[in-house]
Parts: sequence; C-alpha cells; structure tokens
Amino acid sequence: HDVQAKDLELLKRLGEGAAGTVRLVYHKPSGLTMAKKSISTDPDPAVQRQILRELAFLKTCNSPYIVSFYGAFLDEGETTVSLCMEYCEGGSLQDIYTRARDRGGVIGEAVLARIAESVCKGLVYLHSKRVIHRDIKPSNILVTRKGDIKLCDFGVSGELINSVAETFTGTQYYMAPERIKGNAYAVQSDIWSLGLSLIEVSQNEPALPPPGHPDLSIFELLDFIVRQPVPVIQGDHISDVCKNFVAIW
Ligand code: ADP
Ligand code: MG
Repeated sequence: HDVQAKDLELLKRLGEGAAGTVRLVYHKPSGLTMAKKSISTDPDPAVQRQILRELAFLKTCNSPYIVSFYGAFLDEGETTVSLCMEYCEGGSLQDIYTRARDRGGVIGEAVLARIAESVCKGLVYLHSKRVIHRDIKPSNILVTRKGDIKLCDFGVSGELINSVAETFTGTQYYMAPERIKGNAYAVQSDIWSLGLSLIEVSQNEPALPPPGHPDLSIFELLDFIVRQPVPVIQGDHISDVCKNFVAIW
C-alpha cells in the first residue's frame, strides 16, 4: 500500500544535494528500509498535486538497472515532497570513487565496464518508456549491497524540475553541448553525461572543468564545453577499447 509519513521511523542522514536531503528510514508496515528524499517545493497545493501525479509514473518503472520507487507524499508542514526509494547500501559512484581516492586507489577498467553496461541498460529501459534521464552523473548512479549498479533521480516530473529552481552549481558540468546551446535534446544527451561520468570515476575527479583550467567561471565553462574537443579518458592502465568507447559518442 501507499507509503505515508506516519509509518516511517528516521534512522540516519545519507546525504545532501542541491535539491534536498536524503535520509535512511524504516517503513514499519512493510519492514523495508528505504531512502527518503525530501525536496522543498512550491507551497501551491495545485502544483504539489501535479508533482505527486507525475511522480506516480515511477511506480511503473521496473528494471534491475533502475532504483525502485516505493511512493511519494507531502511531508513536513506541507511544503516538502518526499519520495521513498530503494536503499542502495554501497552508496553512489561518487561516494565510491571518493573512498578509493582517500585510500590512494583507482577504479579499474573491469568496474568501468560494468558501470557502462548497467547505465546503458538502465537508459535503454528509460528510453523505451520515453523518458530522458537528464541528470546522469556519479552521484545518481547507485550501488546495492550485492554490487548491482542502478540509476536514480531521473526527470519524470516537469513540475518538480520547475519547482526546484535550477541553481548554477555542479550539475551543469555534465550537460551535453546541445543542451547548453538550447537545442532540442534527446537520449544522446544522457550518453554524453555517461561518458563524463566514466572519466570522473576513472580519474577520481570531475572531467570538467578540464585539467589546467580550474578557475573557469560558469560561463567560460559552458563555452568551453560547446567549443572544445570532447574530454577523453586517459591513463596507461586504460585499454584502447575503453578509450574509444568513451571517445566515440
Ligand atoms: P546528489 O545526487 O546531487 O548528490 P541527492 O540529494 O540526490 O544529491 O543525493 C544526496 C546523496 O544521498 C547522494 O550523493 C548519495 O550519497 C545519497 N543517496 C541518494 N539516494 C540514495 C539511495 N537510494 N540509497 C543510498 N544513498 C542514496
Ligand atoms: Mg541525486
């Protein structure tokens, strides 16, 4: 049945993003542990009803490459929409490469290949449902306890996207040139972001801003993405097959 605020026991905080806070919760009726993401929205009840209607689409998503959705509801004094999803114990690829970096390690090509396969299969699934992800990046690629790799945070609610005012922080780095230019964008824009994500996981830091240009303003950076050659994956430990996979979009 539907997930409701009163049925949830707060366990701990999992993370924080531009849009809101993610917490680990226990859903008493089902005995499931879930990740609850809370986003402050427009207080207009009509807007909120629309967001909840659009989010209901997530219930129809059923794939081993997509984080499961359990339900969404109005939360915390009615200015917050919370959505409950599958808890991925391994955390995000960003969490994982940050841990690797702190230990002085790197993520090898075998793992990159598994990431690429899972993300592509997840995107094929979403695209078959006529959904463009729009926010592929390492923090939106999650890993389960078993090591399965799944996508989360895709754009199913236009109203939610409008409601969370886009601030110029971070996410733009993954935006494909055609999006920056304001052209219609399609599934290919997600593939661009996958390439950038693979480079980031492999080198333990974002592909953009490019090496040697750390202090670009957001405008210079967007200009760089549109004008300069596409970023590539580098390193002696990376095969030509992998380099070509990332280079040829
Ligand atoms: P962002 O994706 O920009 O980091 P989010 O608010 O979407 O911002 O997520 C914040 C953090 O919460 C993520 O980086 C990740 O570490 C954690 N997180 C999000 N969803 C889940 C989930 N379903 N299971 C486990 N951890 C999660
Ligand atoms: Mg996210």
